[in-house]
Amino acid sequence: MTTAPVMILRDSSCVSDRPVSASTPASVGLSGLIQSGILLAPLTTFRVGGKAEWYCEPRTDLELRQCLGWARAEGIPVTLLGAGSNLLISDAGLSGLVVNTRRMRGIQLLEGGRIWAAAGEPLVNLSRVAAKQGWRGLEWAIGIPGTVGGAVVMNAGAHAFALSDVLVEAQILDEEQELYRLDPEDLQFGYRRSRLQESAWTVTGATLQLIPGGDPAQVQLETQRNLNQRLNSQPYHLPSCGSVFRNPETYPAGWLIEQVGLKGYRIGGAQISERHANFILNCDQATASDIHHLIQLAQEKVCQQWSLLLEPEVRILGQFDIPS
Ligand SMILES: Cc1cc2nc3c(=O)[nH]c(=O)nc-3n(C[C@H](O)[C@H](O)[C@H](O)COP(=O)(O)OP(=O)(O)OC[C@H]3O[C@@H](n4cnc5c(N)ncnc54)[C@H](O)[C@@H]3O)c2cc1C
Repeated sequence: MTTAPVMILRDSSCVSDRPVSASTPASVGLSGLIQSGILLAPLTTFRVGGKAEWYCEPRTDLELRQCLGWARAEGIPVTLLGAGSNLLISDAGLSGLVVNTRRMRGIQLLEGGRIWAAAGEPLVNLSRVAAKQGWRGLEWAIGIPGTVGGAVVMNAGAHAFALSDVLVEAQILDEEQELYRLDPEDLQFGYRRSRLQESAWTVTGATLQLIPGGDPAQVQLETQRNLNQRLNSQPYHLPSCGSVFRNPETYPAGWLIEQVGLKGYRIGGAQISERHANFILNCDQATASDIHHLIQLAQEKVCQQWSLLLEPEVRILGQFDIPS
């Protein structure tokens, strides 16, 4: 008796109630590009999260379109991942296709202080390249461990500046894979917000307007100063997602969490930082569920004592327990 080869159609440990796809990446010639069952924890700065049902790391716009096109044809949901520095992915993983842009790289210096970068380029690289030219406008971005795409979606910012202050246009693929060049008005930016957070659009690149003509040594010094200040005030030594909650208009989220006595509080392997209470740290093999419980606890306590709802800045993806 011969044994038929076992073919893995998709990773069955991922949560999904969709029927198995009619065509697999292999059957449409995309087996080199799209894999199944990739563990997402190492791809996030929290170092938690289960597997992706399907996963790809396109290098070019063409590869990106092929992956998105397959998912669309199969009716498979798509989740974009940059550096995973603002994500809490469930322990059960993500169904559908996870598209990681980290290999979509490239920076171009343009006329008059304009700079273009591909979606997967680390924001830190852009900050360093600009400073080296003596171009001002990205000194604040040095310690933010995200990609350009993630920074556009989140309107990342620090030191009273944000990406929307320097963005000229973002290049976007919509659900139909039409390419659009959207300006800041189209993107409806706010504090750590953009219209892209509610859309299924993919950022492929961004063009920024900086201020040329500065002294490179001076701009590099200011950039380095910002980095030092951050390293001295925030817990960078353990996995986290940076600030977990958006700051309410009244009081900083970290201060509110401290006031309700949760500084240093621990659930499983996750702990509210002793140093900066708006950070949750993965101290010892935390699960996503440990972190999620701490988020819920902080919300509950702050709501009870201050009648304020702390709104997560971190993007929470996948299935989590509903509080009883
Ligand atoms: C130690 C630490 C410090 C931090 N400090 C700051 C800070 O000072 N200021 C700040 O603003 N943030 C900070 N962050 C949070 C984080 O770095 C930013 O939000 C960053 O912009 C996220 O980028 P990312 O590439 O990691 O995006 P991800 O976390 O991978 O994704 C964030 C969101 O963007 C979407 N997305 C990502 N790429 C694309 C794309 N190409 N197209 C469409 N959607 C996409 C994702 O689906 C998700 O919804 C910090 C994080 C850490 C770990």
